[in-house]
Amino acid sequence: MASIINKDKVAELVKKVSSSGCEVFGPVENGGVTLFRNLDGGIPSDFTNSKKPPKEVLFPQTETMFDFEIDGSKITALVEPVEAQTPILMLGVRPCDARAIQVLDALFTWDYIDPYYVNKRDRATIIGFSCTEPHMPLQSCFCTSVGGSPSSKDGLDMLWTDIGDRYLVESFTDKGNKILETGGNLFANAAKDDEKKTEDVKKLAESKIVRKLDTEGIEKALEATFDHEYWDEFARRCLGCGECTLLCPTCHCFDINDVITRGKGKRERTWDSCQYPYYTIHASGHNPRPDKKHRQRNRVYHKFLYSNKNLDMLGCVGCGRCISTCPVNIDIIEVVEGAKEAAK
Ligand code: SF4
Ligand code: SF4
Repeated sequence: MASIINKDKVAELVKKVSSSGCEVFGPVENGGVTLFRNLDGGIPSDFTNSKKPPKEVLFPQTETMFDFEIDGSKITALVEPVEAQTPILMLGVRPCDARAIQVLDALFTWDYIDPYYVNKRDRATIIGFSCTEPHMPLQSCFCTSVGGSPSSKDGLDMLWTDIGDRYLVESFTDKGNKILETGGNLFANAAKDDEKKTEDVKKLAESKIVRKLDTEGIEKALEATFDHEYWDEFARRCLGCGECTLLCPTCHCFDINDVITRGKGKRERTWDSCQYPYYTIHASGHNPRPDKKHRQRNRVYHKFLYSNKNLDMLGCVGCGRCISTCPVNIDIIEVVEGAKEAAK
């Protein structure tokens, strides 16, 4: 059975959960930009979607892998990070970003178990917010073309849907039920009317998605156009800024560097982008993706071909961030549709 929580009780719930020793992250307004941050006992900002995806809670932009001490050229001590045990609550994740976390789950446990990601992921409970009034899907959203919806429950422990002065709360997992338990009487049983209203607002939101991508035949088209001149044409516009990858909720590439100061050092990993020329350069100096066309082609192939082959899921969740942030208006829907045309 679904529950409800009145909006004026959310702050109390956040406080209760935080005081049980849980770190609560949610959308926070930061200099005009919404980002996922520690709520510090506050409530989520009113938001449509965060500029940077919430993946950074589980896969931070920069993360220390371990510390070390050094004497001249000799490593004298290695200090493994202490594995944190604190539970994490991610409150207010949009359904597309939760589906993106499923892609990261598959990736970070695919051919190698990534301990840094898995440790945080195991501790995390994810509460999604449906994209309904007053925060309807954006013009650039196309989640319904790639298996999602503004109220998809994929990857979520709970889904909250805004129905005016309250949220309708659906729990799908033990982690979700634990939040109900912690909240206690802050939650109440949903009435039939609440459930009906929820169904209506979900349907309305879905009808507002204007962008569509026909995924039929994409893989074949991409396989047939690897050497096609089409990739030169559209990549000429690309500035190589990397924004489309750095803000993508499913992108997961990183670089590793040692940072050393006065006998102490740390090994850090930092988000990287396949749109940068040095990303693929070999120690020999050879670069298998020397031009923007190779790098743009790789981005599209990764999302719509390689991810399907390796993880059995698309690498794009239709969040539209790459469309709305590209400074030269490169639109991934048009790019994929163009590849399908080129393959004819
Ligand atoms: S955001 Fe646009 S210009 Fe920048 S790398 Fe991506 S496609 Fe190229
Ligand atoms: S490729 Fe673009 S639309 Fe797809 S998930 Fe990444 S940022 Fe979102």
